[in-house]
Amino acid sequence: MSLPDPCKQKISGFQRSCILLFRGRQSRRNRYAGILPVVLLFALCLCGCRRQDPSAQISDVGFYFDTVVELRLNGTSDQKLIDRCFEKMGQYEALLSRTREGSDVWKINHSAGKPVEVSDDTAALIALAQKYYELSDGAFDITVAPYVTIWDFPNNTGQIPAEASIAAARIHVGLPLLHLDGNTVTLDDPRASVDLGGIAKGYIADRLKEFLEEEGVTSGYINLGGNMLTIGSKPGDIPWNIGIRRPFGEASDTIATVKVDGLSVVTSGPYERYFEKDGKIYHHILDPASGYPVWNGLASVTILSESSADGDALSTACFVLGLERGMELIESLDDIEALFVTEDGELCYSSGFPEE
Ligand code: AMP
Ligand code: MG
Repeated sequence: MSLPDPCKQKISGFQRSCILLFRGRQSRRNRYAGILPVVLLFALCLCGCRRQDPSAQISDVGFYFDTVVELRLNGTSDQKLIDRCFEKMGQYEALLSRTREGSDVWKINHSAGKPVEVSDDTAALIALAQKYYELSDGAFDITVAPYVTIWDFPNNTGQIPAEASIAAARIHVGLPLLHLDGNTVTLDDPRASVDLGGIAKGYIADRLKEFLEEEGVTSGYINLGGNMLTIGSKPGDIPWNIGIRRPFGEASDTIATVKVDGLSVVTSGPYERYFEKDGKIYHHILDPASGYPVWNGLASVTILSESSADGDALSTACFVLGLERGMELIESLDDIEALFVTEDGELCYSSGFPEE
């Protein structure tokens, strides 16, 4: 097997250190000083060689955040990397789930208006959610949680909530009710609550990618229930060809494809969670102003971005904003592109969307 260049360099460095170590007589202190770099270089060489086998490839699936997740890593056979990612997903779930007792979000939602200390991750996510609330003119609002609880899409009860209960929830919704000061979160209204379902998967994917890159992974992807974040390109410098799902089609049925290299591709659409009653579809993307599922002629919105958290927030926000206002928002942002799919099956691309 021919070793990749970085390994070759480390081995020649290792040999140089050996020559230096055994040349001439050395004091005890100097001998130890010589051994240290050798040990370090040897360890680095082992790590480097194990993680940089160009032909190696590993992948695995799991179930987190109420959805199927998939990891694929090229150039490594180190299963421990995948295990660590799954472990991290479990930790993020325990921190950010709305329904998991003891999570940061649970603590905020049960704070009865008292200040709550949250982790750096939760604070960072809430700060980002505030940014997208502002940018989307309130279309993206993590305080839709009282509606989310009433509609209860995760348990798919298939029940249309009573108008009166939605109206009663409405007065407890609005991000200005939440204050973030460092890591302290305070809700002005004890009956307000937050739900990070519209942004957390993107944020978690970004953190996992950071971890994998630090561990030397240069090619692969993180797929959190359709939120796709790529790492580099495929072996041979070939871009990833990501399929964008046909709304309400089979999971494998794509309406378009996009070639990306290290970017995030996130789609929001009603078909991800919905129920049908009396010929009408009720789905999980809610209008913060009304508390009802959004219907504005769109069937899905896909965002291309460097950061998956940005893509996640924007795909939900643009779905709520609709084609015209959503496209206007995308065109005002640098390095973000979008594909809007209308209910009629029309594909509307932002100006810088890469051509197939
Ligand atoms: P996504 O699949 O990323 O579009 O996120 C949808 C999820 O975000 C829903 O299942 C809710 O948990 C939450 N959500 C629904 N409507 C909104 C909204 N207008 N702003 C922020 N989060 C929302
Ligand atoms: Mg989202």
